Amino acid sequence: MSLRTFLKQMETKKEVLHIRDKLSTKFEISSIMKHFDDQGPILSFENVGSYETGIVANVCGARTRIYAALGTDQSRLYEKLIGAWRSPDKPRIVTDCPAKEDHEADLAKIPVLTHFERDAGQYITSAVVYARSTDRDVENVSVHRLQVLDKKHLAIRLVPRHLFRLWQTAKQSGKDLEVSISIGVHPAVMLAASSPVPFGVNEFAVANSLMNGDLRLVECENVDAVAPAEAELILEGRISATKEVAEGPFVDVTGTYDIQRKQPVVEVVGVMHRKDYVYEALLPSGAEHRLLMGLPHETLIWENVSKVVPKVHAVNLTVGGSGWLHAIISIEKQLEGDAKNALLAAFAAHPSLKHAVVVDHDVDVFNISEVEWAIATRFQASEDLVVVNNARGSTLDSSANQETGTTSKMGLDATSPFSKPKEKFERARIPASRRVEAIVRRLAGL
Ligand code: MN
Repeated sequence: MSLRTFLKQMETKKEVLHIRDKLSTKFEISSIMKHFDDQGPILSFENVGSYETGIVANVCGARTRIYAALGTDQSRLYEKLIGAWRSPDKPRIVTDCPAKEDHEADLAKIPVLTHFERDAGQYITSAVVYARSTDRDVENVSVHRLQVLDKKHLAIRLVPRHLFRLWQTAKQSGKDLEVSISIGVHPAVMLAASSPVPFGVNEFAVANSLMNGDLRLVECENVDAVAPAEAELILEGRISATKEVAEGPFVDVTGTYDIQRKQPVVEVVGVMHRKDYVYEALLPSGAEHRLLMGLPHETLIWENVSKVVPKVHAVNLTVGGSGWLHAIISIEKQLEGDAKNALLAAFAAHPSLKHAVVVDHDVDVFNISEVEWAIATRFQASEDLVVVNNARGSTLDSSANQETGTTSKMGLDATSPFSKPKEKFERARIPASRRVEAIVRRLAGL
């Protein structure tokens, strides 16, 4: 399975919007991406200025498309992801692949976008970066933003996680870290690479498990690294042990500018791609960015809260909370206080979580008006509010304490209390017959 096969499937479902207007990689394409953000279609830009290459964007920009890519639905998503995290399946290595059809001399031939007004420049945003440890024991795959510096060099943002650790180890022995950088891969690979699995778990093996054993990897030509054989474009590079540059500012998931920092330089030593490759773009802070970061963390919340209450119906890391800072959780409550324990479990599962609301399972977590209704009718601040001061939060939270990085967390128990009469909290329904439902459908033109 490849990005191409997925795009073909989506084409038949009328999920792809083809854009034939000539557009610039600087602001014009990102501006259209922004316009169609949130539940919008896949965007296929077919006339990208002076480039021969087309651009595809917003591939994972809707929950339903991610479910389709994984062959699952909302109710089974979390179990599917956990299953793959716990049972990674090492992909087969093949010797040839479509990306070896053609080679490129330099990065300037690739239509890399400049997204926001104050971004430092052109950024690759859908890159899946693979590296193995110098002793070859550990393999890691993760998504990183890459700033184009010149025809042969990129700056890579390494948050202190797994790839950073591999780079530090290589650096200590005076070596550059060899990496493959793949662009245009199947959504399952993107989701696996965004998953919070422990150090030592190979995210390509997680992806292969999600894809039921269908992922193939290929050895790179110039570096000691593998990459998805079906990728559209593969860059081969070395993360320098010594060279660092100022990286940023750049818009992160919250839609605010992340600061400039010293980050390592990647020397690009090879570029290979399919003859007719399509470049995959991803809008920072867009739906796709939120969902790829958010869905694996919804899974963590779902799993952890499931340990303390009888049933968790659904979790939504909301759009307004940037898919990262706000969670709505619907539960089946058995005893008074269950919702508060659910809040504590949610904050423990996802340390970046800042505000959380727990609702009963008659409230749809994806309908923010319903959630607000639950807060309006079932929540009393004097009893149902939990505030935790000076906790560790997200580095992306602009309002956090600038020196310590700590933040205040707020949890709202918006479940109906057992101590008051049940009928006071019942959502009024109107009995509807099949006949009336049919009339309504006809009137609505469905
Ligand atoms: Mn990892």
